[in-house]
Amino acid sequence: AQEHLVRSERFAAVGEAASHLAHEIKNPLLLMGGFAAQVRRGLAGEDPQAEKLRGKLQIIEDEAKRLETLLREVSGFTKPCKPDLIPQDINQAVLDTVRLVESDFSERGIECVLELSHDLPAVPFDKNQIQQVLLNLAKNAGEAMPSGGKIHFRSWHQGETVMVSVQDTGMGMPSEVLERIFSPFFTTKAKGTGLGLAVSFRIMEDHGGDIGATSTPGQGSTFVLTLPLAPSTIAVPK
Ligand code: ADP
Ligand code: MG
Repeated sequence: AQEHLVRSERFAAVGEAASHLAHEIKNPLLLMGGFAAQVRRGLAGEDPQAEKLRGKLQIIEDEAKRLETLLREVSGFTKPCKPDLIPQDINQAVLDTVRLVESDFSERGIECVLELSHDLPAVPFDKNQIQQVLLNLAKNAGEAMPSGGKIHFRSWHQGETVMVSVQDTGMGMPSEVLERIFSPFFTTKAKGTGLGLAVSFRIMEDHGGDIGATSTPGQGSTFVLTLPLAPSTIAVPK
């Protein structure tokens, strides 16, 4: 137990240093990406040279955005995140998340279908954190359907828990992939961070809840979130 305590303190210190570093990098990065965009838009001219330079500036912008996402996910992962548990309606978190992605998704031929139970009890959760989980699941579902499809969001009450599922009609995953999806930095995407599901797992664990996935290659995947109704069932952080 002593060793575990020392280790977790050391881990917390490393996490703190990492989130401090992430914070320090974020501002200059935003500035660099923003200026690259301004210079690109101001760079007139039809000649191939100007065209080429605009292409390079676009790359700077895109890479800056990619690093911003990475930083956000790393700081989400390293920051100890004690959830602010407030009893509330889980459907609202689902609706707010869907609203956030809807217009981008519909342009990509992705339809969001809501099948929410309308007599759910209030359940304690941290709205920002659970919305982050739902957003991670929605983004992954969208990325699994490059030529469009459907995402079903469901909610229901089961025993002492409230459950939410996010089901896509995407490419699915073979079992070798499915086994590893919650590990930090595991990704099958060229530009993935592999942190979305690791962060989501942590958040669900901190809520005393759970996250699970099933998948059929070529047919799609389903992620299921479980949140306990009673705060007393919330696990002591390890
Ligand atoms: P990232 O999206 O950056 O790759 P995640 O932690 O969000 O990281 O996901 C890890 C991996 O899990 C993905 O690279 C992908 O292989 C797999 N995955 C997650 N969600 C889905 C999904 N809905 N359909 C198919 N594969 C998925
Ligand atoms: Mg992801």
